[in-house]
Amino acid sequence: MDIVFNCPHCEQELAVDNSGAGSEIQCPSCNEKILIPAAPSAPESSPDGAAAVSHQSTAHSIASSAAAKVEMHLKVPVRDKPGEVLIAKPKPPLEAVARGAGKKIRVRTIRHSQCTEAGHDKFDEKVTEFLNEIGETNLIIAHTISYTHFDVGTQKILTDYGIMILYRG
Ligand SMILES: [Zn+2]
Repeated sequence: MDIVFNCPHCEQELAVDNSGAGSEIQCPSCNEKILIPAAPSAPESSPDGAAAVSHQSTAHSIASSAAAKVEMHLKVPVRDKPGEVLIAKPKPPLEAVARGAGKKIRVRTIRHSQCTEAGHDKFDEKVTEFLNEIGETNLIIAHTISYTHFDVGTQKILTDYGIMILYRG
C-alpha cells in the first residue's frame, strides 16, 4: 500500500511505498527535503499488516543510510480520471526562461534576390535587422542556402544565395 501525501513545500501530490514512512526524501518536483508521513492508521489484521509495521520501523532506523535512500521509490500517482490537479512538471529554471523556454521554434528564410530595393543590395541590412529583432539568445542556428530563381530583369535563371535562420520566438 502506498502512502499518498502532499509535499509541504510545493503541494505536489506524492505516493511512496509505506515502507518509506518516516524517511527523509527529496521531492521530485521542488527538490526540497521532505519527511514521509506515517501510513494512515488503517486497521490491518492480516499477517501481512504486522510485517509491514515492523518493516516500517526498520525503514525508519536506517532512513539516514544511503542504502535506504536508494531503495525509496518515490512516484507521482497516476490517475485514470481527469480533473485531479497534478503538477505535471516543475517550473523551468531561470536560465531556461532566459533562453526562451515556452517559445516556439521558428524558421525565417531570407533570399538575397528579395532584398534588392531600387537597385540597392539590402541583404546584409535585412539580415542584421532580423537578427537584432529576435535577439542573440533566441538564435539557434543560421544556414546559408543556395537557390535558383528566374530573374525578371535579365530574363535568365540565376543562382543566388540566402540565409535560413532557426530561432525561438
Ligand atoms: Zn515539493
